[in-house]
Amino acid sequence: MSEGSSGKVWFVGAGPGAVDLLTVRAQNLLAGADFVLFDALIGAEILQLAPQARQRSVGKRFGSASTDQAEIDRLLVQAARDHAQVVRLKGGDPTVFGRLDEEIDALNAAGIAWEIVPGVTAATAAAAALGRSLTRRGRARRVVIATPRTGRGEPPNQRWAAELDPADTVVLYMAAHVAQESASALLAEGFASATAAAVVYAASRSDQTLQRTTLGELAGGAIAEPAIGERPALLVIGEPARSDRVPSGGGD
Ligand code: SAH
Repeated sequence: MSEGSSGKVWFVGAGPGAVDLLTVRAQNLLAGADFVLFDALIGAEILQLAPQARQRSVGKRFGSASTDQAEIDRLLVQAARDHAQVVRLKGGDPTVFGRLDEEIDALNAAGIAWEIVPGVTAATAAAAALGRSLTRRGRARRVVIATPRTGRGEPPNQRWAAELDPADTVVLYMAAHVAQESASALLAEGFASATAAAVVYAASRSDQTLQRTTLGELAGGAIAEPAIGERPALLVIGEPARSDRVPSGGGD
């Protein structure tokens, strides 16, 4: 890049994992990227779509070493000063629990142009895995995307559960490791213990699995720790978690 000019940053949703759930726009941007800054959940197959680009992981995985947000902001600004086309690849959709605002603020402060490219978020990939609609006329009128997770250094907080209605479909991100507490919080808000719940691991990926259960069982510790392992997982609570239909087909 010439002195004084900056490139542009595209915040690109990489989808839930399956490479063919990437958008065509994401694929084109990756093919033309000079620099790719990616999160830990992004698979190698997706990164192979940008072999010409410099690539850097800024992995954030629960319980493992991660790059500090301020450092990510700094790297992103530097990348845009040094390269014309920077792709900031985020799992799922960048606007859902993607810490997007911090990074946008950093770019705005540095006068760098940016754009957002949506992706398939884990909630819709989980619905596909369950073979169920997230909404249902007359019964599941509202889908709530929430997380029980609080920021680093912040106290635990169960307020996320406070305004939910048992008729809602509740999709909890970053919750598998606190499934028991999360289910208890919903029971305390008046959800019935028989309310259907499902844990969807690695939605859309070849290692995808499902565990169908109930809120009461989850509150009793129904999720086996080893099952969580290294795979991302979503908790789906309500109508779509019921097991009366199973997707057919699938596989190659
Ligand atoms: N921006 C992402 C979410 C990032 S937060 C999106 O739109 O999907 C990371 C959390 O997303 C994980 O802890 C997990 O709860 C969920 N997640 C991401 N990919 C997933 C997948 N393939 N299957 C199940 N859950 C997933």
